[in-house]
Amino acid sequence: MEVPSGPHRPTVDTDTDTEAWWTAVQDRTLMVHTCGSCGQRSLYVRPFCPHCWSEDVQLTPASGHARLYTWTVIRQNAAPFDATPYVVAMVDLTDGPRLMTVIQDCDIDDLRAGMELAVAYRDDDDGFVVPVFVPAPGVTTPG
Ligand SMILES: [Zn+2]
Repeated sequence: MEVPSGPHRPTVDTDTDTEAWWTAVQDRTLMVHTCGSCGQRSLYVRPFCPHCWSEDVQLTPASGHARLYTWTVIRQNAAPFDATPYVVAMVDLTDGPRLMTVIQDCDIDDLRAGMELAVAYRDDDDGFVVPVFVPAPGVTTPG
């Protein structure tokens, strides 16, 4: 089943902790938090490292490569938008962090745990850019 790319989607709320991350996304750059103390990378964006609690964290560019960890298909939604069905997924970035995102441009029946994904950027009707993941170039899915 193809996932529609319908026009009516919810808007994203940003806050002071995530504003710089979303600003980078508007420039089509996916960032992760990198800790200056322990070196580990993390998401979501927060003003400290969840591994060592250091506040010495900064945004650094991510590779944009990931593997699909798990997913669910949303077929109905009470929110007033018409983009169902859509795939909400947890992906493991090759940079380390696990990220909740949306999978697009992939038949739902072709999704497989561990499949290689690449970040892509969806331009919503309001001009806001949202990071999504698609099958990595060169990855073929059955049927
Ligand atoms: Zn740390």
